[in-house]
Amino acid sequence: MKPIRSLIPCCIVFLLAPLTWSQTAKERLPGFTSQSSTPEHEWEKKFQDAILPDNLRENNRRMSARPHHVGSPFDKDNADWILSKFKAWGFDAHIETFQVLFPTPKERVVELVEPTKLRAKLQEPPVPGDTTSSQTSEQLPTYNAYSIDGDVTAPLVYVNYGLREDYEQLDRLGISVKGAIVIARYGESWRGIKPKVAAEHGAIGCIIYSDPKDDGYFNGDEYPKGGWRPKDGVQRGSVMDTDYPGDPLTPGVGATADAKRLPISEAPTITKVPVLPISYADALPLLSALAGPVAPEKWRGALAITYHIGPGPAKVHLKVASNWDLKPVNDVIATMRGTEAPDRWVIRGNHFDAWVNGADDPISGMSAVLEEARTLGELHKQGWNPKRTIIYCAWDGEEPGLLGSTEWVETHGDDLQKHAVAYINSDSNGRGFFRAAGSHDLEKFINDVIRDLKDPEKDIPVWQRARLARIANAKNQEDRAEIRKRAELTIGALGDGSDYASFLDHAGISSLNIGYGGENDADAYHSIYDDFSWYTKFVDTDFSYGRLLAQTGGTTVMRLADADLIPFEYSGMAETISKYVTELEKILKDKQDEIKERNLELKEGVFNAISDPRKTSVPPPHETDPPYMNFAPLKNAVESFKHSADRYQAAFAKLQSDSAPALPPQVLDSLNTDLLKIQRTFLTERGLPERPWFKHQVYAPGAYTGYGAKPIAAVREYMDAKKWAEAEAQVPVVAKVLEDVAAAIGKAAGELEAVTGH
Ligand SMILES: [Zn+2]
Repeated sequence: MKPIRSLIPCCIVFLLAPLTWSQTAKERLPGFTSQSSTPEHEWEKKFQDAILPDNLRENNRRMSARPHHVGSPFDKDNADWILSKFKAWGFDAHIETFQVLFPTPKERVVELVEPTKLRAKLQEPPVPGDTTSSQTSEQLPTYNAYSIDGDVTAPLVYVNYGLREDYEQLDRLGISVKGAIVIARYGESWRGIKPKVAAEHGAIGCIIYSDPKDDGYFNGDEYPKGGWRPKDGVQRGSVMDTDYPGDPLTPGVGATADAKRLPISEAPTITKVPVLPISYADALPLLSALAGPVAPEKWRGALAITYHIGPGPAKVHLKVASNWDLKPVNDVIATMRGTEAPDRWVIRGNHFDAWVNGADDPISGMSAVLEEARTLGELHKQGWNPKRTIIYCAWDGEEPGLLGSTEWVETHGDDLQKHAVAYINSDSNGRGFFRAAGSHDLEKFINDVIRDLKDPEKDIPVWQRARLARIANAKNQEDRAEIRKRAELTIGALGDGSDYASFLDHAGISSLNIGYGGENDADAYHSIYDDFSWYTKFVDTDFSYGRLLAQTGGTTVMRLADADLIPFEYSGMAETISKYVTELEKILKDKQDEIKERNLELKEGVFNAISDPRKTSVPPPHETDPPYMNFAPLKNAVESFKHSADRYQAAFAKLQSDSAPALPPQVLDSLNTDLLKIQRTFLTERGLPERPWFKHQVYAPGAYTGYGAKPIAAVREYMDAKKWAEAEAQVPVVAKVLEDVAAAIGKAAGELEAVTGH
């Protein structure tokens, strides 16, 4: 196979560019000189070949052998084991400990008190043959961390996913949740949004259940026959609010032993109402006991019942009480010092804490990260020396709220601002297609990395498979055309679904989140069934995608650590930010059209005429038309940004040609210093208007989406809330930031042009 495969590109290259074939653009890595590019390729190849699936399997078996949530004995045991491994591989490693608020269940009750009496089990039974599923004494009971304590009894209302638009629909049906307990299904939003929006609408309690349509039998056979969530399976998880991630008691500062702490009663990220997650087996009698209107079609799940909304006659008693203790989180930090620029840091991380055994989330990712570190240590012994310093981080406490990574970033903020080049994150990993999201200065870079890697199932480049999958899954012809036209695969924007959040959103460090997925015929997320037995039967059975993740992560780290010039790219980023601005305009236009149309229909009497008099139907409220907004400052700023980015790109391309003069070391050094600061320029001291912890003015999670990103959140969130004047006031603020970034890129372009000529 190999000789044939390498023949094809050679022929093409020869035909197109006979004079330069020995040093083609393909072989010359962006940011590398012709002298440094070849050895880099050779070391990378050596690295990729040395990644062993059997090591990944053993790493996974070891770390998922027992439950290991924050504060548990085996979580600490894993931290110590990871530390010993890093040290054995030649890293300078230590554990850094923080004291964080981490509630664990003391009392949990969900019971139907009317029309019949029935107490929910709230218990996941062990599965015969799956040995770790019976480690009951060490398992955290099913619960939602950071639910406030409470004891409430009230009529039940079904609220679909519990999003803001679901409550608008309830208003139309004349149903209020005031004084009620709501039951929402998992999905469509960060789980913490559900109790938050419920409380905003006056509910006094919230139950979240896993509908089989989302991750159960609707998709495939239940575990253990298949890999899907069984009837008693429950999704644990944090319901912390999204004002800021990390320890609720120490926003903005590291949760060191002597840190100043908020009283628990004043911590804003703890929920306002009690909340518990349940299985569909426990949810079925509750939902079956609801009457009232039949739920709209889109609200119906896959249970064999007619979904009613209520309220009542089902009445539910919900009681939650937690032990509100400070617990240690133990981050393991391992450093390999760079030889030429030791004070520039390339940081790589994955968390190791889990809700229970967590073979998938997060150990599938952590196993790969450890195998990367082992192999880099091996290369180091063979003579490979990274130019920049590499820091491998095994984060503790990600599950409750990105605790370990956030506290570390908050503690080392000043140093990170000075030294960090980029942060590369992964989390769970599975079979399938490459996925990446991140800051767009790394978009072209990560495309180049995956062009050099091969998919283990299809024997084609990872990049090619990802691209063809996107063509197949595109929504329409326009999107397909865009994918075909574009040289690079786009990467998504980051929200706050994993440990990258504080790096990018708070500290302005260029970041990527990478992984594989899309072919997992299984889902046991945050249950006792996410374990080694389940993972090796239904997910990455031979760890070939774990191997690929290690190859991807390690190659990314090596290239960022070794490149002569940090290979950031800004033209693609300018294009993406331009799209975000166009989206803002479209959101306004759509809202104007929608509200205008609805007001007209109200005037015409449409709603009164078509409503069924035998059913309750409330016309939507009359709303004032959204005013036109002035986006000109943003659009002008995007133009400046594009101009600087294109200038930089042109100079960078010249540098890549063989006739280009070499950059003198002092120019290279000052350019690299300038480049790593460009991402910081997106930060403002004041942060987002209502969430000051989030400093980045382009990337942020949505206050009502959580995991999902809301680019240019300062403007967009006010638009979502229909606060038009406030939204418009943010336009010049963000525009100023973009102008500053454009100037910083322009400065870097100027430095390059001074060497390469215009
Ligand atoms: Zn995770």
